[in-house]
Amino acid sequence: MTRFDAIIIGAGQAGPPLAGRLTSAGMSVAFVERGLFGGTCVNTGCMPTKTLVASAMAAHVARRAADYGVSVGGAIEVDMARVKARADSVATNARTGVERRLRSLPHCTVIDGHARFEGRDSVHVGGGVLTAPRIFVNVGGRASVPELLGVRDVAFLTNSSILALDRVPEHLVVVGGSYVGLEFGQMYRRFGAEVTIVEKAPRLVPREDEDVSEAIRGILEGEGVTVRTGAECIRFASHERGVAVGVDCAEGEPLVVGSHVLVAVGRRPNTDDLGLDRAGIVTDARGYIVVDDELATNVPGIWALGDCNGRGAFTHTAYNDFEIVAANLLDGERRRVSDRVPAYALYIDPPLGRVGMTESQARASGRPLLVGTRPMARVGRAVEKGETKGFMKVIADAETRRILGASILGTGGDEAIHGVIDVMNAGVPYDVLERSVPIHPTVSELIPTMLSEMRPAGRPGEHRGSADRS
Ligand SMILES: Cc1cc2nc3c(=O)[nH]c(=O)nc-3n(C[C@H](O)[C@H](O)[C@H](O)COP(=O)(O)OP(=O)(O)OC[C@H]3O[C@@H](n4cnc5c(N)ncnc54)[C@H](O)[C@@H]3O)c2cc1C
Repeated sequence: MTRFDAIIIGAGQAGPPLAGRLTSAGMSVAFVERGLFGGTCVNTGCMPTKTLVASAMAAHVARRAADYGVSVGGAIEVDMARVKARADSVATNARTGVERRLRSLPHCTVIDGHARFEGRDSVHVGGGVLTAPRIFVNVGGRASVPELLGVRDVAFLTNSSILALDRVPEHLVVVGGSYVGLEFGQMYRRFGAEVTIVEKAPRLVPREDEDVSEAIRGILEGEGVTVRTGAECIRFASHERGVAVGVDCAEGEPLVVGSHVLVAVGRRPNTDDLGLDRAGIVTDARGYIVVDDELATNVPGIWALGDCNGRGAFTHTAYNDFEIVAANLLDGERRRVSDRVPAYALYIDPPLGRVGMTESQARASGRPLLVGTRPMARVGRAVEKGETKGFMKVIADAETRRILGASILGTGGDEAIHGVIDVMNAGVPYDVLERSVPIHPTVSELIPTMLSEMRPAGRPGEHRGSADRS
């Protein structure tokens, strides 16, 4: 049995920086990782996918070159092996960087292997047992593959295995019309595949507002992606041309035959093989580790950070979990998860930048609301760039004049949303942003204009008519 001051399980987004802070504070740390250093974001999530999205964007712009008065000789070809090599190299560089830094960290012992709790202060790895008074769980999650009819009888892809493709599939069927599925769907369409996105709900990204879902559908269909929503009873069977996916949608063919199928219907935490019961750590019905507002589990001395605690599903939320735990443990602060303003982006092109409540959540809260919208077709920078698809929308409390949420679906939306994020974090009325002097020409410069045109919220979707969502 080897004793340490702290054990960290999982080298995702929270564990490695935490190891740096703990060792700097003089603690000895045992760091256990069973797979690829850097975890999901670096190896099978954000980094490879955003690198692929950039390649897909290059193909898309090349095809549209004539719109900009530029001639490209011949047909646009995508060399998928080189596209893949580029994504691999970005992920590999990041992974080796994380691993090198951890292995060279003084007072940090890196142990390769699968960690399993033995008790409240002990963890089994390989042939040995580690003990520590503080244990930090940062085990992340993986693609969830529910028991859909026939799914185990066919060769399906997940967000991890699809990264091994070095040829463009003839027809990619994406089961799941949410964040992961839409990014892969649009990207592969731009690489040249026929793409069908199958979604069980009546609309894509059902967590977003209906007008956002509709606009996204329009963008994807405009590029030739087939969208099948309201797909009840999704089922799979082998077919001579690949995989037949039964969709039973309200309209259209009941069967879609693809050469490849991506299952992107959600994520599940890596907590089922962690021996949590031996430590008495409580999880919720879906396996997420239950934590308090400071990320402590029900067992004193054990914390859970990142995707495995169900309090966030992003790299920035996992990293913020590290910041909260480090500040509270080492700096005498009292930071909390509930202090953070939720924000994220969907990296289709144009991207969707999001912060705070959706309009429907704000309406459900029952407060008096002000809503402002602006189509990207009326944003100078978007017009100049020839990228006028999408719209922006902001919702504020009519009494406090605080912004409750915003969506920017449009070119640069993932960056422009940060002005709104900053104002929400500052906790000031939107007038501060409205009176700012933004740079011209930017997408952000139209946010103050939109704020100056805020109107009381009418019936749901009433303000939609003003925006060209094409
Ligand atoms: C396709 C895709 C695209 C994404 N794009 C974005 C994006 O653009 N922006 C964004 O913010 N987020 C994105 N995400 C989400 C993001 O990747 C995750 O939120 C983030 O990686 C979570 O980090 P984490 O530290 O909680 O866990 P992870 O990064 O999953 O790391 C967990 C680590 O723990 C290790 N581990 C697990 N169990 C054990 C064990 N028992 N013993 C030892 N080690 C163990 C794993 O091997 C892994 O290395 C994306 C996710 C996917 C799937």
